[in-house]
Amino acid sequence: MNNTVKRTIKKIYPANKVNMGGHLLDQPLPNKELQSLDPFLLIHHWHQMLPGGQRPQEAGVGPHPHRGFSPVTFIFKGAVEHRDSLGKHATVHAGGTQWMFAGRGITHSERFPSELTENGGELEFIQFWVNSPAANKMDQPYYQPIQLADTPLVEENKSKLWVVSGSYKGTKGAAPTNSPQLLLRGELQKDGILEIPISSTFNTLIYVLEGALKSGEHTILTKDMAIFQNDGDLVEVKAMANTRYIVLAGEPINEPVAQYGPFVMNTETQLMEAVRDAQMGKMGVLIESFDATD
Ligand code: MN
Repeated sequence: MNNTVKRTIKKIYPANKVNMGGHLLDQPLPNKELQSLDPFLLIHHWHQMLPGGQRPQEAGVGPHPHRGFSPVTFIFKGAVEHRDSLGKHATVHAGGTQWMFAGRGITHSERFPSELTENGGELEFIQFWVNSPAANKMDQPYYQPIQLADTPLVEENKSKLWVVSGSYKGTKGAAPTNSPQLLLRGELQKDGILEIPISSTFNTLIYVLEGALKSGEHTILTKDMAIFQNDGDLVEVKAMANTRYIVLAGEPINEPVAQYGPFVMNTETQLMEAVRDAQMGKMGVLIESFDATD
């Protein structure tokens, strides 16, 4: 394979502030112009100082259902505690990933461990939603915690790149996907230059959590999302400061999307079925337990 043609940036979108249950977070996708970048539907960047003095059941998001896609969380600071209707329960710490495929239906909660809620502390994570092909939407759901230690790290000059899914220069990530993807989390020191081979057929975005990257003539600032043209097979970035960023790239699914709240299907009828099935308890039941021994 000969990766030589550099991709150019199509457009840069600054994240918008969104109110989620009283917490202001940054949302680069969707935005006013762009509903999705197939197969990626949504990106939420959550950064918060927990004040302390809270019980774990007073913070985060309580039990709710999903169907038809994968909600994925990259944790950067602090930790996120997952519980679901399959009986899975895991806390993933900074550097790790909460990987869930909702399939035909699952109910989960997304909270923070009691050390954080009680003592206070910094939380930073990105949740993004990856659509599933129609053929997989009603498959069995699964949940997979991927800790930092389970995430392969590729170190090059001034660059650290963790491979969560797909393959980067021969290193493969652990997360299973229903369609071809390359999902990376990166740190690039000031003046570092990195070339990332990405199939020209993959829709590709970079979001910067902190710092700034230059690609071609464009600069991607903190909390900017850059969308690339499908005009080459190599993404080149240069760090203008010490920078943390993610790369989400994937083969487009090219199917109709019907979305309502936590459900992502192909038709309005399927959405109505999803609402009904959730109300009937067909997406499982989660009764959270907060015992110290849990
Ligand atoms: Mn959720």
